Amino acid sequence: MVEIASYWQNYINGSWVDGGAGRIDVIDPATGERVAEQALADVTDVDRAVKAARRVHLAGDLTDMRPIQRGRLVQAMGRYLLEHKDEIAHVLTREQGKPLWESHIEVEGAALYFEYYANQASTVEGRSIPLGAGYMDWTEYEPFGVSAHIIPWNYPLEMTARSLSAGLATGNACVIKSPELTPLTNAWFARAAEAAGLPPGAVNVICGLGREAGAALAGHPNVNQIVFTGSVPTGIAIATAAAGNVVPCVLELGGKSAAIVHDDADLDAFENDIRWGIYFNAGQVCSAMSRVIVHESRSDELFERAERIAKSLSVGPGIERVEFGANMGSMVSDAQCDRAVGMVACAEEQGARVVTGGRRLNRPGAFMEPTVLAQVTPDMEIARQEVFGPVLSVMTFRDDTEAIEIANGTDYGLVGGVFTADLDRATRAARRLRTGQVFVNEWYAGGVETPFGGFGKSGYGREKGREALWNYVQTKNIAVRLKG
Ligand code: NAD
Repeated sequence: MVEIASYWQNYINGSWVDGGAGRIDVIDPATGERVAEQALADVTDVDRAVKAARRVHLAGDLTDMRPIQRGRLVQAMGRYLLEHKDEIAHVLTREQGKPLWESHIEVEGAALYFEYYANQASTVEGRSIPLGAGYMDWTEYEPFGVSAHIIPWNYPLEMTARSLSAGLATGNACVIKSPELTPLTNAWFARAAEAAGLPPGAVNVICGLGREAGAALAGHPNVNQIVFTGSVPTGIAIATAAAGNVVPCVLELGGKSAAIVHDDADLDAFENDIRWGIYFNAGQVCSAMSRVIVHESRSDELFERAERIAKSLSVGPGIERVEFGANMGSMVSDAQCDRAVGMVACAEEQGARVVTGGRRLNRPGAFMEPTVLAQVTPDMEIARQEVFGPVLSVMTFRDDTEAIEIANGTDYGLVGGVFTADLDRATRAARRLRTGQVFVNEWYAGGVETPFGGFGKSGYGREKGREALWNYVQTKNIAVRLKG
């Protein structure tokens, strides 16, 4: 059993400090018990953190370093996370609710970002531009300086690791605003930075309320670049604040992603996609497979399989759910659980049929039954709005054009999926789907190497892959007039 400290501070300029806004209780959603208290930053704390990062930037502590050396520091941070995997996973499950084995996957995933971007640090190279005999000209990529990272509660470790590793590898000093519901595990990024030997102020980790600390960070005049992962309304507020200071931002927002299952799809294999696509992290995944659009000739078969998968999952406290695969933990909070259950009830009123699930479990904790909905039509709210819970909405189609129309029929555009034995058909569909990425024959195909981000209201900018490096650097061109 891992002992969890009763009080967790913020980390500013290399020191652990209390918060000007007091403390907040961190609740275990599986029991309703308090796990710990977390210091809450106020506007002054945000200012201190940004100024600490700015000092590091202006001193050239990260920028003057050879990139390969910066890469080594980033690599060391990832190793630190792995060395503390059991402890971090335990705290993650207690604060977020996911099964312990999922928390292990998340710690490993977080470490993988550090490994990947450590190796990318020295690949950010400019080019020389020929201007004739009288000139020498080249481009360089400079870090923006102070990079702000505003993080959601669903994958607090991986979402922070994703942007922090790339931000540091490119030489930015970073301020992380951790989520109020799940702030504890972000402390390990501060510890990792310290253990790796990063200068104080290069990584600052503060938790505060979104409307107070988050807004202050997004609107701080010394922040030079912002990465936000979260909901659409908050994304709009952050983009507005960023525009006020003319700084770029990356928005990784929500989704209502659909898998198109053709008549020739391998449904045996697709069972696995149902299990992972919608029930991983109790469906609280931006790129969850929240809609399935199945050819009408295969719908009965699909319902039977989806129902079986949903019913096979044992739902209960994540801390007891150590066995890989066959289980699901709690949702992050009572409010999130009630919201998802309410959306299912509303869908029923609008004509959807609950094949299985749809209710809270009759026990303490934010537990929702794995749910499958039939007779969903594209105009229903459940088909258009993000549930962020373990709810699969199934619709049917007759021809390929109709399938694409339904898939493209929401304001979001994060992920699309195509399941078919016909590669030509898959490629045609992939090109017509208005989403930032398309998974063919495996939901969540891809990895840290593959760029990820949204079309439409799912946001803009890309995380992961080499594309993400360009979020954190700006181009400088140097043109030299040669004598003679
Ligand atoms: P949220 O928008 O409520 O909060 C996200 C973060 O923003 C939190 O740290 C919060 O404190 C902060 N915040 C809130 N108001 C703010 C403000 N006015 N100014 C600055 N910061 C503010 O989102 P959430 O409920 O934590 O996360 C769920 C959402 O995140 C879902 O919509 C999900 O799809 C999305 N998400 C997207 C991705 C992706 O990569 N596209 C990944 C994970 C989650």
